[in-house]
Amino acid sequence: MKFFTVVLFLFFFISCTVEDDYVPFQIEQVFSDDLQQTIKVDIIYVQPSITSSQSSFNLDETAFIQNLNGSFFHRYGIGLEIGDIKTLVNDELYDLRDNSGEESRVFLTQTQNLYNKNRMNIYVVKRAHTSAIAGIGKDQRALITDEFLFTPTAPHEIGHALGLFHSTIEGNVMSKIRPHMRKDFTNAQVDQMKNTMKKIENF
Ligand SMILES: [Zn+2]
Repeated sequence: MKFFTVVLFLFFFISCTVEDDYVPFQIEQVFSDDLQQTIKVDIIYVQPSITSSQSSFNLDETAFIQNLNGSFFHRYGIGLEIGDIKTLVNDELYDLRDNSGEESRVFLTQTQNLYNKNRMNIYVVKRAHTSAIAGIGKDQRALITDEFLFTPTAPHEIGHALGLFHSTIEGNVMSKIRPHMRKDFTNAQVDQMKNTMKKIENF
């Protein structure tokens, strides 16, 4: 008897849990002045309402955006620019461990009316069992656990947020297998991301 695996995209949001994405990677940095599409990225730190338990995020936002551009996006004519740095006080999102299995739904509902539709919105959290979550398509929201910000999980989630589904090609940024090898986008994926960006009223 043969079994067929049917993958249905029932959920608008995808939770991307990966185990071996801790492996450090080296990608040659490429920067370009010839960019066809750019998008501003707002970085939103999620904090709890109790001030004494708030996390300190030691993220160098400029280095984060620079790494994404140099390692993944500039070579395809896509540029990310740093937007606003914000804080969101939200207890549900802050400790996603309380919402195991429900992360995508919680993220979707808790940020529904808050995000800037003209930008890429990256929510940074510390406490989650999932490495990252992203919306697909014209809904540029991604949530990334801070320890994954400098791994290929970050461009993977941005890819989702710019309309990309998973790829079966090994080494592709949108691959679910061997996440530490994620490196490339296909031409079709680049076109799709650029088309999504065109539809966004930038700035
Ligand atoms: Zn994914």
